[in-house]
Amino acid sequence: MILLLLICLAPPALAEMPARVTVKLFESHASADRLNVEGPFRILQPSSRLVPAGKYFLQLDGRIIHLRSSEKNRSFNLDARKFSLTSDRGIAMQYSTSKPRRYAGIVDVYKDEQALAVTNIVPTRDYVMSVVGSESNIAFPLESLKAQAILTQTRVCQARPGAVVGDSTQEESYFGTEYVTPLIEKAVSAVWEQILVYNNQPIHIFYHSTCAGGTSEAVKVFGSGASNMPYMRCVPCKFCQASPFWKPTVTQIKTAEFKKVFEDLPEVNRLDCARRPTALTRYKNGRRIDMSGYQFWIKLGQKFGWDKAPGTRFALTEKADQIEVQSTGAGHGVGMCQWGAAGMAAKGKGYEDILKFYFPGTAIRKPEFSKKSSH
Ligand SMILES: [Zn+2]
Repeated sequence: MILLLLICLAPPALAEMPARVTVKLFESHASADRLNVEGPFRILQPSSRLVPAGKYFLQLDGRIIHLRSSEKNRSFNLDARKFSLTSDRGIAMQYSTSKPRRYAGIVDVYKDEQALAVTNIVPTRDYVMSVVGSESNIAFPLESLKAQAILTQTRVCQARPGAVVGDSTQEESYFGTEYVTPLIEKAVSAVWEQILVYNNQPIHIFYHSTCAGGTSEAVKVFGSGASNMPYMRCVPCKFCQASPFWKPTVTQIKTAEFKKVFEDLPEVNRLDCARRPTALTRYKNGRRIDMSGYQFWIKLGQKFGWDKAPGTRFALTEKADQIEVQSTGAGHGVGMCQWGAAGMAAKGKGYEDILKFYFPGTAIRKPEFSKKSSH
């Protein structure tokens, strides 16, 4: 009865989990005009046809794409503007020098700008399993994998119909079926269609590798664009001590190289609750530039490599002709600490404990609830 009353007062305003997700593949690779594909697979478009085992490639030639065998003693010729391919085992493909990857669902290959574009229309469950595998350490335990799956499901259920997501960390990494282990399959099955809500609305998800002592408030790290996330608070965390990034990472940048980009060492104006610098000032040609700690960290990573300061809790010191960069943790420090989640799971905590710990005030909405409530 109580359940029914609650349902009448606050019906969930959510769409259900979509049946499929559309992903633009090979997002982080330079555009290429050739793609290697491994048979056997089925061509769905331009016309249905089974292609036997072997090595093949798709080559863009003007507005036409050629599908050819890569093996000298075999001939295979098919031309089309667009190919749709599928395989029960997942379709194996390789873009230039990238590692071969295997994808469930349907893969469309077509011309976009002056290069081949590859889009994967994948059943949502396969997508979630692959993202959990692509974003997790192989040693993470079951309950932390369940928490990770719920975060991906929470993001997916908010996607606009027809939305195309990328396969890099701009959204979440998605590297195909070979990152899916039996433990990940078990984790996703156990929490399938569960999502994380705040005031009955799905939350914006953020997570990172290692907080090394505490997470940060989203608005303090990302700025006013992240102001309406009361569940993204400072959470002290000591569960991530097994992470290689718990201890400080110390690296050097040649002062001359550093000053070509930033001129002088920035002054830190403010540290947040988790001791991350959130407001910096630097001077360029005598002009004052205020920037957030996160903006500085992104620029440092882009210019000098992400290994220089893996975490946003960083400090810079000038030593002779080097700038010493010291940081703890890995990633932006907002939301769930993945190594902390794994540490909590290793101590016997369940996925609900983990998610409620890192996202205070949230609740898990289970599909039983949403199904009953929709009637
Ligand atoms: Zn942590």
